[in-house]
Amino acid sequence: GVSLAAHQNPSDQDVEMTLRPRKLSEFVGQARVREQLELVLHGALKRGDQPDHVLFSGPPGLGKTSLSMIIATELGTSIRVTSGPALERPGDLAAMLSNLSEGDVLFIDEIHRIARPAEEMLYLAMEDYRVDIVVGKGPGATSIPLELAPFTLVGATTRSGALTGPLRDRFGFTAHMEFYAPEELELVVRRSAGILGVDLRDDGAVEIAGRSRGTPRIANRLLRRVRDFAEVRADGAVTREVARAALEVYDVDELGLDRLDRAVLSALINSFRGGPVGISTLAVAVGEEATTVEEVCEPYLVRAGLLARTPRGRVATAAAWHHLGLVPPEHAPG
Ligand code: ADP
Repeated sequence: GVSLAAHQNPSDQDVEMTLRPRKLSEFVGQARVREQLELVLHGALKRGDQPDHVLFSGPPGLGKTSLSMIIATELGTSIRVTSGPALERPGDLAAMLSNLSEGDVLFIDEIHRIARPAEEMLYLAMEDYRVDIVVGKGPGATSIPLELAPFTLVGATTRSGALTGPLRDRFGFTAHMEFYAPEELELVVRRSAGILGVDLRDDGAVEIAGRSRGTPRIANRLLRRVRDFAEVRADGAVTREVARAALEVYDVDELGLDRLDRAVLSALINSFRGGPVGISTLAVAVGEEATTVEEVCEPYLVRAGLLARTPRGRVATAAAWHHLGLVPPEHAPG
C-alpha cells in the first residue's frame, strides 16, 4: 500500500529542494507562526542572545523543515540536520553537538522518535550548552563534562503528544502548523510553476490547490504530475480540464483524497459499519503501518470532516458515507 501522499522518490526530493522557500518573505501562509517566529528571532538578535529552542509540530509537508532552514538564514548561521531515529546512541548526538559552531541551528526531524539516552543528553545540552560524556562502565565509570558552543535546537514532530514532558518544557517557543487554505496553496503552486517554467493557468492553479489536502508538499507534487500529463496528452498548458483529467489518472479525487485515504474510509465503513474502531485495527485492514494512518491520513480526514475521533475509536461521519456514494446510517455523526 504505497500512497502518493506519504512517500516520495529521490528525484522528487531534488525538485523539492529547488522549490523550498529560502526566506521568511517567500514562505506562504502560517501568518501567525511567521509573526511569532520573527519576534523570537529578532528579539534575541537585538539583545545579542542565542534564540530560544523552537519546536514545530504538525502533519508532514506543511513546511517545518523549510522554516527551520529559514531560521538559520535569518540568523545568518549554518544549520545541521539530523533526525530522531538517527540518534540511537548518545554518542551520535554528542558528535553532532560537539561539531556545532557558535550560533548554529541544529535541526532534529521526527524528534519524538529520539532514543531515551540521547534525549536525556539533550536536556543538559539545551539548558546549559553542556554534555556529560560517560567513559568506561560499572563502578569505574567517570563522566567528563564537555562545553558546547551556544546553539538553537529546532525540533520537528508529527506527534507533539508523543514528546515527553521534560523535552517539551525545554523549548522556549512551540508552534503548531495548520493545514493551508486553498488560496495559500494557489500561491504555492504559482510560485513553483514560475520556478519550474510550467504554463499554469489561473483555473488550473485553483484546481490543483483545491485537491492538495491543505499541504504544500502535495500541491507541488500534484503540479509536477499534472505538468507531465499536460506535456504528454495536451499542449503543455495546465488548465482546469487538464488538471482534472490528470488527477483522475493519479487517483486523486475532488476532495484531494488519494487511494490510501479512500481505503481507510472504505474499510471503516464497509468492514466496521462506520466504526468506532481502533486505529491499529483500521491500519491492519488497509495493510498500512498504524503510524502512517495516524500521522499522514487521519489529520486531513478529520480536518475535512470525514472522520471523527471518539473515546471508543474512529468513526466515519455522514459526509464520509456520502463521499463514497453510500447512505449514512442514523447514528453516523454529522
Ligand atoms: P515538513 O518538514 O513539514 O514535512 P517541508 O518543509 O519539507 O515540510 O515542506 C515540503 C515542501 O513543501 C517544501 O520543499 C516546499 O517546496 C513546500 N512548502 C512547504 N511549506 C511551504 C510554504 N509555506 N510556502 C511555500 N512552499 C512550501
